[in-house]
Amino acid sequence: MSKFKIILFYKYVTIENPEKLRDEQREVCLKLSLKGRMIIAKEGINATLEGKVEDINRYLDIFLKDKRFADTHIKLSEGTGEAFPKLSIKVRNEIVASGVDGLDPNKTTGKYLTAEQLHSWIKGKKEFFIVDMRNDYEQRVGYFENSILSGIENFRDISKLLPKIKHLKGKTIVTVCTGGVRCEKASGFLVKEGFSDVYQLFGGIVTYMEKYPNEDFKGSLYVFDNRLVMGFNMDDQRREIIGRCASCDKPSENYINCSDDFCHRHFICCLDCTDENNKALCPMGCRDFSDEHRDVATM
Ligand SMILES: [Zn+2]
Ligand SMILES: [Zn+2]
Repeated sequence: MSKFKIILFYKYVTIENPEKLRDEQREVCLKLSLKGRMIIAKEGINATLEGKVEDINRYLDIFLKDKRFADTHIKLSEGTGEAFPKLSIKVRNEIVASGVDGLDPNKTTGKYLTAEQLHSWIKGKKEFFIVDMRNDYEQRVGYFENSILSGIENFRDISKLLPKIKHLKGKTIVTVCTGGVRCEKASGFLVKEGFSDVYQLFGGIVTYMEKYPNEDFKGSLYVFDNRLVMGFNMDDQRREIIGRCASCDKPSENYINCSDDFCHRHFICCLDCTDENNKALCPMGCRDFSDEHRDVATM
């Protein structure tokens, strides 16, 4: 068993004084040597933290004692002690920036669907559509079979998704994202846009994969820390590598940032296509393809 644990959680609840909570949280996290990212806003709290198992447990004891957060759903995974370089706790206007004004999950959001319920819907005959609210680069290493991928570059562009799914207004929709925090807003957004039967996957893909590893969600899950991707039961025969190297199209889950200082595009590049320091220029504009193009043209 790992000595380290990573926790992922959010809670939409009115926070009267975000600055005060930030200072309190910083004190507790520093005392327990936790690292990670936390965003606090008037609308709630969103965090990923890593620490030694006993320190994470102590943190949760303290955090869950606060009445505002008592029923927060905590997602756990094994850590390495290296998921985050430091601790960052910030106050922002929103815990997740949606780019749409007036989305308040405390007022309007989709109905919760548990992992168990979604699993039985998938196995059954019910007609429904899974809409993946994550960013396009996250979807490249894994997704639910037969789901509709948002294809957006950033959650702030969520309204660009509407033309793609407008024919589903009268159908049953289930929104999914990593841990659920984006779906609180995304599902509320669809409700406001007139979609009549909107659900959100409670606890997100993390929770689903924990319960049903390598079943309906193919590949692995992109995460926003140094791990970059996370899988469950890695030696499971059913585990597939969904990601493809952007340069040579070989299966890969190796995310890098383009080494061009003005690009920094986040993309998948296999180890054969990176240099010895795991660096490469992206093939979407930064790498000179002229020689290879000539080869192809004369073939
Ligand atoms: Zn490659
Ligand atoms: Zn580039």
